[in-house]
Amino acid sequence: MKDFTPTSYTLECVATGREFEDTGWMLADPQYKEPSLVRAKYARKQLDVKPAEWGLYRFCDWLPVRRILKGSSAPVTYKSKGLAKHLGLENLWITFNGYYPAIGATMTTCSFKETEAYSVCGRAAADEQRVLVVASAGNTARAFAKVCSDNNIKLLLSVPYDNIDALWFDEPLNPCVKLISCDKGGDYFDAIYLSDLALKGPGFYAEGGAKNIARRDGMACTVLSAVTTIGRIPDYYFQAVGSGTGAIAAWEANMRLIEDGRFGTNTMKIMVSQNAPFVPMYDAWRADSRKMLPYDADKARRDAEIIDAKVLSNRRPPYAIAGGLYDALKATGGEFFVATNAMARKARKLFHDLEGVDIYSAAGVATASLINAVAAGKIEKDATVMLNITGGGEEHFKEGKELWYLKPSHVFPLDPDPANVVETVEALFN
Ligand SMILES: *Cc1c(COP(=O)(O)O)cnc(C)c1O
Repeated sequence: MKDFTPTSYTLECVATGREFEDTGWMLADPQYKEPSLVRAKYARKQLDVKPAEWGLYRFCDWLPVRRILKGSSAPVTYKSKGLAKHLGLENLWITFNGYYPAIGATMTTCSFKETEAYSVCGRAAADEQRVLVVASAGNTARAFAKVCSDNNIKLLLSVPYDNIDALWFDEPLNPCVKLISCDKGGDYFDAIYLSDLALKGPGFYAEGGAKNIARRDGMACTVLSAVTTIGRIPDYYFQAVGSGTGAIAAWEANMRLIEDGRFGTNTMKIMVSQNAPFVPMYDAWRADSRKMLPYDADKARRDAEIIDAKVLSNRRPPYAIAGGLYDALKATGGEFFVATNAMARKARKLFHDLEGVDIYSAAGVATASLINAVAAGKIEKDATVMLNITGGGEEHFKEGKELWYLKPSHVFPLDPDPANVVETVEALFN
């Protein structure tokens, strides 16, 4: 790990194909004015997987990182026996993101948001003086908090007050990590609004979400784990989506793996699911629409309150954008599913019974959609199936541990005074 040299890559605008250099944290092609993702084109076309001690950075050939941070873990892929037998599938592979040391899974923040956090923070320069700003409903905040705390990176989190219980850790965090919240009753969108105000301060910069290549290529490590374990590109990829970023990343990884040449030329079908009744992308897909359909804000809030898998309640996902989820589904012949809370709960219990560990509601939604797809006869029994368990093992991790909670340094009203926000957050880091 000592002799790491920054990964070499260029950027490519998906809509136009224009290639250009990354002059630093670029999230879009400055010459193209329509919405489009940019992708990294890595100098190394064949992935050379590094030893296990490298953690997530064992996949650094295809991560846009300048440095390697401490404490990361890679996803773990294994061939399912219990769930596979139950479903009558001969080649079901589970990629587990979370905490389950018995299979070698050691993500202590328990979700695949850790893959993006290590990748994003490794993209930033070691001498970056500005404060990274991340708005989140929970899992993302916990992942970034751990990475930044362990590696002494300045981080400002914006999390709704109602969600701060999600910020549990097994040890106190380094004070370089600060939390602000919007008042009770505020949701993820209020937290985003608050973080946008904080970003008006010159000393702060935005993580960038799905537009950040580091975020997507971090999540793509789930597929790199699966394919380098299985030895081939799967036929199907199952994941529950809120933004769809992980599924877009899976498709991008698939294209790189075809170019690699050692894993076949297969395009895996991207099989995504949402938690009913909050299903805006499913509705757009079913209407064969690239544009999201109108979704009344009050109804969206109510629907988001009903669903178990709160991490799936994104109202402005990168669905329509060039290179986004709509394109990923079209290009791969993918499908969209929905699962109710009842289906997801049953699937979580089944997973626990058959695979031995607790999983999050979102992973339960993905498992339920696999169960439904098999029941509907959509999956051949000898097909190679990758089930992305995006998060799990939280109960397992917490067993017998005393937890420490990150508390907000400041709680703002839902309509804060913009100047006051900037002043307050600047003072936190001085
Ligand atoms: C964020 C999250 C998802 C949704 O991921 P996207 O690809 O961003 O839609 C699914 N499961 C878990 C556990 C998550 O934390």
